[in-house]
Amino acid sequence: MYRGRFAPSPTGPLHFGSLVAAVCSWLDARAHEGEWLVRIEDVDEPRCRPHWGGEILRTLERLGLHWDGPVVWQSRRKEAYRAALERLRRAGLAYPCACTRREAAGRYSGRCRNGLPEGAAARAWRFPVPPGRVGFHDRWQGWFEQDVEEEAGDFILLRADGCFAYQLAVVVDDAGQGVTHVVRGADLLDSTPRQILLQQALGLSQPLYLHHPVAVDGAGRKLSKQNRAPALDPSRDCENLRAALALLGLPPPAEADGAALLSWAVARWRERWTAGAQPAAPSFSASPGPKDCSAR
Ligand SMILES: [Zn+2]
Repeated sequence: MYRGRFAPSPTGPLHFGSLVAAVCSWLDARAHEGEWLVRIEDVDEPRCRPHWGGEILRTLERLGLHWDGPVVWQSRRKEAYRAALERLRRAGLAYPCACTRREAAGRYSGRCRNGLPEGAAARAWRFPVPPGRVGFHDRWQGWFEQDVEEEAGDFILLRADGCFAYQLAVVVDDAGQGVTHVVRGADLLDSTPRQILLQQALGLSQPLYLHHPVAVDGAGRKLSKQNRAPALDPSRDCENLRAALALLGLPPPAEADGAALLSWAVARWRERWTAGAQPAAPSFSASPGPKDCSAR
């Protein structure tokens, strides 16, 4: 049974970049006749606002991207994250770190791995990354591998401010929700090896991954709330859906609009992905301008 998910962070309204991730994960789930879950990733509570979560859900409904089952909010899942951290700790796979943000900036040196400096108090918990490369086959990007120790170092599991880290929360939630297929933007490709290490450490099964190309602005930067990507204009839903599909390599015919647009896209996606065909991957930095929606 296929089970996919869309997992936005409620740090602002849905923008074009997150729409691409929603459309891509929805299409892949529908083309596989699977379930599509929505999880609001508000684990980083200082940066998230609950009302943005509600706003994102209303936008998905308006666009016709309907989800299955109850919406999961990470802010209500802390017991599960705590239990996972405890399991890692008991297995010797989590250690306390006393470093301040400044001392631990960039790739972490592993300073506290063999014990806290004398008199220092634990501020955060980290995962001791084993040496070697971690690789996986990505359905869109092909083989990807990373030396996590070299590139990220021992990463955070529980932050000094008491928030559980994104990497831990995602792994615990994907397993808890029985997610079989993770479909998300290529900006998260280099998080995946860390997540695979945590899956292995916790004895969880590894989902299949697809990292799609991400939308960029005129300056070539990923569209994100940090660089002020605008909210989706409700009067341009059709144009935005068409542009998202074009970015995913499915430029729609002029006559498809509304519900017909989405069912057209599911049929094309199914042809492309379930017959074992590889995509003609569009350029990684493709940046579509919204197309006319003459049939609207
Ligand atoms: Zn430290």
